[in-house]
Amino acid sequence: MNKFFEPAREIPVRAEVDVLVVGAGPAGLMAAEAAAKGGKQKVMLLESRGFLGGNLILGLPILSMLDAEGKQIIKGATGRFVERLQQRGQATGHKRCKLHISLTMVDPEAVKTLAWEIMDEAGVEVLLYVNTVDTIVENGCVKGVIIESKAGREAILARTVIDCTGDGDVAYRAGVECRKGDEKGRMQPPTLMFSMRGVDIAQVRDNVVNHSDKYGMDIMPPEQFREGNFTMVGYRDQLSDARARGFNITVARTIFMTGLKDDELWVNMTRVSGGDATDPVSYTHVERECRRQMYDVARYLIEYIPGFENAWIETVPPFTGIRETRVIVGKYVMTSEDLLEARRFDDAICVASYPIDLHHEEGGDCTLIYGKGSYDIPYRTLVPEHIEGLLVAGRCSSMDHGAMAATRVMSTVMAMGEAAGTAARVALEDGVLPSQVSVKRVQEQLIEGGGYLR
Ligand SMILES: Cc1cc2nc3c(=O)[nH]c(=O)nc-3n(C[C@H](O)[C@H](O)[C@H](O)COP(=O)(O)OP(=O)(O)OC[C@H]3O[C@@H](n4cnc5c(N)ncnc54)[C@H](O)[C@@H]3O)c2cc1C
Repeated sequence: MNKFFEPAREIPVRAEVDVLVVGAGPAGLMAAEAAAKGGKQKVMLLESRGFLGGNLILGLPILSMLDAEGKQIIKGATGRFVERLQQRGQATGHKRCKLHISLTMVDPEAVKTLAWEIMDEAGVEVLLYVNTVDTIVENGCVKGVIIESKAGREAILARTVIDCTGDGDVAYRAGVECRKGDEKGRMQPPTLMFSMRGVDIAQVRDNVVNHSDKYGMDIMPPEQFREGNFTMVGYRDQLSDARARGFNITVARTIFMTGLKDDELWVNMTRVSGGDATDPVSYTHVERECRRQMYDVARYLIEYIPGFENAWIETVPPFTGIRETRVIVGKYVMTSEDLLEARRFDDAICVASYPIDLHHEEGGDCTLIYGKGSYDIPYRTLVPEHIEGLLVAGRCSSMDHGAMAATRVMSTVMAMGEAAGTAARVALEDGVLPSQVSVKRVQEQLIEGGGYLR
């Protein structure tokens, strides 16, 4: 590759803040709200896209707000976020699910609106359409970031930065060791979600409830589909027939889920193996290929699944969803074993219950591995091993490939975000670095805010 030497230049400092959160996905929203609590800290939230919510706006259910016994374990700010949507009829209740522990459907547009309300109430300054491209590090401590936008290249200085970019962009630029994928670097594939309207949902239920011999589901008993929200995962025979007939579909299972509207289903069935969202050439290929697949997936549903005969594609989110890219190496790397053994940690900052859910890199299938029950997420997974002044929350926190495949669900990343924001605030109040914060104080604050720790 040719190289070009970019000369050093003076750039304006757009802002100086106490806590800077980068990335307004589920983790970032909760981090910013928690950091701003009490109104003493000046908090800013940066987002590269033109809306708040990240993957929360893809039409996906929030999984595992409950544990396997049906007890709500994700509470605090995340619980209140969902309750506010529920009060407006923009989210469903938490429905137990044999495969996914629990499902909570949310309206994507309502999420964007509520996110603005919460940021405004908390006094968080939001800046959209800014790409965070570099990190300012002095003596091993993050002091701010460099952003790029239509206004050019600018600096934002901060006493603490929280990386909620999903891709660990800030941490990576700061020199934090990052890893990708399994032992061979293989990552879970990306998927472009889309919704279909005009679906006869009563008919779709009937397929599974009364004709399960023909329309089989993975793990889930037919009765689960009699009423309420659902995520259907199955119809394997129909799909393999369509694939044999040349439909451009790369998944082995049909996956769709109810939305908030009576005739709406969200489809999770496009997939591109080898897609890497940290490489623009690869991500471009993913976008093109998913769009191609989407029409074959819709045609398959209409031809093969009773209830879809009159359906059409209604909504396609503005980006293909990314399951996995970088994770940081933190003070502690949470392992699959920690999770499967339901381990507890003294520095727990939330409790999670979702199993290891690995969408295979090749072959279109998925493996779910269930452990002994709910597990703790330790604070040290949010703290980079060497670099100070930085916390990392969300799907890029310090996990091995298997653990990340469980903790990436939105309930858990929201709880991690709240913990990171709380820790940043407590550290500033106490005049210490986030790596030295009293985790006991953070835990007390989380519980005081309605959070759940065992
Ligand atoms: C297809 C698919 C299906 C899934 N299914 C489910 C499901 O059913 N239920 C569930 O709970 N979870 C599901 N997940 C997982 C879940 O959606 C994600 O793991 C979770 O949203 C990650 O949250 P996050 O806040 O860490 O990152 P994200 O949601 O990715 O948010 C990161 C935010 O940071 C912004 N950003 C990134 N880089 C920069 C930068 N350099 N500068 C400024 N801003 C930046 C992005 O624009 C984005 O808004 C699914 C994921 C995918 C892709």
